[in-house]
Amino acid sequence: MFDLALRLRRDADALVTNWRALARLSGTAACGAAIKADGYGLGAGWVAETLAAAGCRDFFVATWAEAAALAPLGLPNLAVFHGVRDEDMELALSGIATPVLNTAVQAARWRNAGGGACHVMLDTGMNRLGLGEGDLAAGALEGLVVDTLMSHLASADEDSAQNGEQRGRFVAMADKVAARRLSLANSAGIALGPDYTFDLTRPGLALYGGVPRPELAGVITQVAFPEAQVLQRRTVRAGEAVGYNATWVAPVDTEIAILNYGYADGYFRGFSGRGAAWLGDSVLPLIGRVSMDLIAIDVTGHDVAEGDWLWVDFDLPRAAAQSGMSQYELLTGLGSRFRRVG
Ligand SMILES: *Cc1c(COP(=O)(O)O)cnc(C)c1O
Repeated sequence: MFDLALRLRRDADALVTNWRALARLSGTAACGAAIKADGYGLGAGWVAETLAAAGCRDFFVATWAEAAALAPLGLPNLAVFHGVRDEDMELALSGIATPVLNTAVQAARWRNAGGGACHVMLDTGMNRLGLGEGDLAAGALEGLVVDTLMSHLASADEDSAQNGEQRGRFVAMADKVAARRLSLANSAGIALGPDYTFDLTRPGLALYGGVPRPELAGVITQVAFPEAQVLQRRTVRAGEAVGYNATWVAPVDTEIAILNYGYADGYFRGFSGRGAAWLGDSVLPLIGRVSMDLIAIDVTGHDVAEGDWLWVDFDLPRAAAQSGMSQYELLTGLGSRFRRVG
């Protein structure tokens, strides 16, 4: 067994704290968890087991491949957002998860196969996935047992008139469909308040430390902590340059540490000259360009040696501002070269 020089420390207590906070903000609605894209890069199995133990009962993935990978966990309610293609039917009918039907074709496919209870996505103005008013009027859902009727907000992270418009359309359309539960809010939707939580909420980002709206700042805490090992410590003499394209030139003699971490691990080039690592309470600035597998950190005056581990700053709102990437991209960009611990 070899040991990786890059690890992702995952804080299970922070994950549970975030879920409980979102559950509290969801009021009487059940609070689920979106764990697609391998739990936003943290590991879907780890997220699901941690949150199931805390009482979460509703989990959402995007695809049947993701559902199949989680089947051994026997999660109480696992739903597949992308619904059912022909190619999915065998797996879908095996009962490992419940499809979220998005089109009249998917609804007919499920009905003709005698698939049983399903979820349904309505399009209320995002024009991404979901059935429209015309589909309902044409009887697309006739004969189906609908567990959860849902829609998705396009602009919940903004104070946009679209939020109220989508909510209004959702209520009007839901009036025409018999369903056990209604569900509209993602993480940002929960922060819009009790008008948006209905019977079930579906947070993803905020579970993992993302802060999509100011109301969640101070409520949500960091879950994912990248830590990289020092491969070399060196002295850079005043006037010498560091890294690709020599974008950083030492103003004075500088001690630097080269870490095993780069843009192939989701530490994108936008962090060049902006990111930082932590040593206790000290912030050690990143210097020069981010390479594919390496970064350079200014460790002047600090006791950092080859083989040491440094914690690279990955506070999501700050990291998004520094890198120009979204908090979602930063999480899902966490690569396969981490040893995920915790
Ligand atoms: C990904 C997703 C969510 C979770 O959204 P966040 O913004 O990460 O909270 C909820 N619902 C649907 C349909 C999704 O695709």
